[in-house]
Amino acid sequence: MKSCVLLIACDPADTRLVVKALTRACEESLDIEGVTTLSSGVERINKGGVLAVILDLEMPDHHGIGTYEKFFSAAPDIPMLLLSGTETESIARQALDRGAQDYILKNHLDEFRLRRVVRGMIERKAAEDAAFRQQQLAELTLSCTGDAVLTTDTFGRVTELNRAAETLTGWTSEEAIGCKLGDVFQIIDSVTRQPVQDPLIAVVNAESSALVLANRLLIRRDGFEVAIEDSAAHTRDRHGNVSGAVIVFHDVSAARAKTLELSHRAQHDFLTDLPNRVLLNDRINQAISFAARYSKQLAVIFVDLDYFKKINDAFGHAVGDKLLQSVATRLVSCVRRSDSVSRLGGDEFAILLSQVERSEDAVFSAKKILNALAAPYSIDQKHLDINASIGVSTYPSDGQDAETLIQKADTAMYDAKKLGRNSYQFFRADMQARVLERQRLESALRSALGRDELKLNYQPKIDLKTWEITGVEALLRWHHPDRGLIPPSQFIPIAEESGLIVPIGQWVLLEACRQARAWMDAGLPPVRVAVNVSALQFMAKDFLSCVRAVLISTGVDPHNLELELTETVLMQDAESAVDKLHALKAIGVQLAVDDFGIGYSSFSYLRRFPLDALKVDRTFIKDLSADAGAATIVTAMINIGKSLHHRVIAEGVETREQVQFLQTQGCGEGQGYFFCHPVIAEKFAQFLESGLREYVVH
Ligand code: C2E
Ligand code: CA
Ligand code: CA
Repeated sequence: MKSCVLLIACDPADTRLVVKALTRACEESLDIEGVTTLSSGVERINKGGVLAVILDLEMPDHHGIGTYEKFFSAAPDIPMLLLSGTETESIARQALDRGAQDYILKNHLDEFRLRRVVRGMIERKAAEDAAFRQQQLAELTLSCTGDAVLTTDTFGRVTELNRAAETLTGWTSEEAIGCKLGDVFQIIDSVTRQPVQDPLIAVVNAESSALVLANRLLIRRDGFEVAIEDSAAHTRDRHGNVSGAVIVFHDVSAARAKTLELSHRAQHDFLTDLPNRVLLNDRINQAISFAARYSKQLAVIFVDLDYFKKINDAFGHAVGDKLLQSVATRLVSCVRRSDSVSRLGGDEFAILLSQVERSEDAVFSAKKILNALAAPYSIDQKHLDINASIGVSTYPSDGQDAETLIQKADTAMYDAKKLGRNSYQFFRADMQARVLERQRLESALRSALGRDELKLNYQPKIDLKTWEITGVEALLRWHHPDRGLIPPSQFIPIAEESGLIVPIGQWVLLEACRQARAWMDAGLPPVRVAVNVSALQFMAKDFLSCVRAVLISTGVDPHNLELELTETVLMQDAESAVDKLHALKAIGVQLAVDDFGIGYSSFSYLRRFPLDALKVDRTFIKDLSADAGAATIVTAMINIGKSLHHRVIAEGVETREQVQFLQTQGCGEGQGYFFCHPVIAEKFAQFLESGLREYVVH
């Protein structure tokens, strides 16, 4: 419905006058509707769209103040201009007191004034409505917002608090209003815990009108502390003068707790909750700055568990994890609160000792740790034992930064492992030299295969009765371009630790079979070639298929290939070794236990392994002449081999006496310098052709 001004008057002359006044010369003329009785006027109002009413107090159905009151009770919100005669002017004034906007005398009806009054009335009403809506909206927003809002006057007295502010401060509006801001809104810095500047002063001093302030703690009325973030701004009155301040704040405890948790996680190990490498580095570097300033020392202890992997493999990761947690707890109990125990990963831990007067202090801690870790563990009703190897580096002698100190402690730990485990070593410069040397060899070895620097030598195995060649062992040689011949004892361990033994071993297997085939093709009698197999190679999933592929591609009869596996390799995971050996046996290759006697063989497994030969370790043969006990042991080993129906091969045979002893004990075969050193393939071909009897001139 269109909006209009409603004229309620019964005198047609008055009506005309008003209509003329309001419609004439008016830029945007107002629509005017007229009714002649008060009741029809009320009816029209109820339909809506009436902006203002011009009401004659003298109506046919009502008179005087009664007219006004009747209409006002029906439409209290609509602005009203009264038309009054001079005689009823006092009534019109009365009506003004009760809420009418204005009155105008009929006999002084001035068009201009009439227009102005009506227009003013309408505009004022519109402005009031708008202001009301604004106010409503503001109140609604304040009560719904999660933010707490608090306002003050220029004297810093609280003037208003919304619901959220009541909850956060612990003050009700009634109690707070009129109080000093500092009493209701007590805040301290969360880091320094010092009271912070009154936000009012901060706002007044600030260039900008709004300030956002983080890292605050609000002390609630009951003393409880709430982490908040607040912003403050000054409020101004209509004339632009500062009239007070509004402070908006909210609880950030949850967000801050989340941030703290995230940063904790980034710096700690999830399993043990110890500091991780990142945090340890930080702490060491801090301790170094401190030690440098006060000329102090500090030590880094690197702890690595011995044979942890075995526990993990035998009992599963859950047990392994719990063991690591127990180790962590014990380590922490070994050191002072000012020291830092950290887990670097796996079974490696590092400890920063920040108060070291002399190196004996670190010795004391290292011994204490070894003792603490060595006590038995009870995990999931299982009793476990584990030891550790420890390396120690010290500041300032071994390094000037965290990385270097940790690395040197690691190097020293590596030495402790080599020297027998369950022990500690301090870092020494020669260790570093050895590490560097090792790294150099490793990188040279990496390219050795491609550069054709690896060769095989061949050492015959001899039948001790007939002196015939029963087989030949392929032995790896590395001709380093600058250093000449490097013995396997120096490079095989590096190849094993770096994993290079897998491709190298693969090459040995292929090269040995290729050579066996070449001798056959040259018309020489077929010979069984033995190849040494390392743990990593044997454990690799594709070992079986590699062996098969080599045999097929070289055309060597599987019976003419013998794989030599040490006791240690076989016993590492004896159950799966049983399966693997059976699979290899099914292909037809021969299987020998290498270095028999120095490892820990379980006899029940020796019976279950489908073996063909035992190679008695050369240390026992060497001791034969000097040590009667050794003779007994060798005899026992020969008998074990025989009772299991295995061929028995004595390694490292160097003297005639040894040969005679072995012969009398019924040892089938021998291998050693007495018969022949390892030789190149061409030389071995000659032996194959003419036999060894001539060659051995003893
Ligand atoms: P091994 O398997 O026990 O090999 C026998 C070692 O004894 C060879 O040393 C051989 O030269 C040496 N030897 C032979 N006769 C005598 C003797 O009368 N007296 C003494 N004292 N020693 C004798 P080599 O060639 O230096 O190899 C050392 C070890 O390196 C081997 O011990 C084997 O464990 C490893 N190795 C050699 N070649 C390979 C290979 O191709 N693959 C793997 N995985 N390991 C290899
Ligand atoms: Ca061997
Ligand atoms: Ca051996």
